[in-house]
Amino acid sequence: MVHVCVSLGSNIGDRTGNLLTAYNHIMVIKGIQPLKFSRFYETAPIGGPPQPMYLNAALSVQTTLLPHQLLEQFQRIETLMGRVRTVKWGPRPIDIDIILYGDEIVNDERLKIPHPLMHSRIFVLEPMAEIEPDIIHPVFQKTILQLYKELRTKMKEV
Ligand code: ATP
Ligand code: CA
Ligand code: CA
Repeated sequence: MVHVCVSLGSNIGDRTGNLLTAYNHIMVIKGIQPLKFSRFYETAPIGGPPQPMYLNAALSVQTTLLPHQLLEQFQRIETLMGRVRTVKWGPRPIDIDIILYGDEIVNDERLKIPHPLMHSRIFVLEPMAEIEPDIIHPVFQKTILQLYKELRTKMKEV
């Protein structure tokens, strides 16, 4: 079993409902067991076109699935929930990203783990710091809580 951290976001339709629906879809995947689900955080969109505010959450699970199998499952759920890819970083009913997969590093054209922007995104780090503060980022060798605090400090400086 591998300990995996997942980031969820929604900014179209019933955002709370969408996060809960995604959670329910993830929970019934064979080979996934839930650990912790964060509270929901309202965040401003970063990058992409002008668009509504997001609702973000973090989820940790145990899984026997391989990284690419997980990605396939998450993309299936995104499509099922009406996700259409048009503009980069455009609005979406649901976005499901794999943030950490144990301490493994994946780097191919379809999948990058740890997620390459996670340490610079407060909307990823804040919910993750709530549920999994002590998990260590395998590249930076820092805990999620450290990364979160560092980013907060950096944001105050600008
Ligand atoms: P970002 O990755 O910057 O958060 P995004 O979530 O809007 O942007 P998407 O359009 O949802 O990007 O996904 C684009 C592609 O990213 C996917 O088709 C997938 O192959 C790839 N990808 C690479 N690494 C990951 C990861 N860790 N989790 C999910 N998708 C990933
Ligand atoms: Ca994303
Ligand atoms: Ca994504």
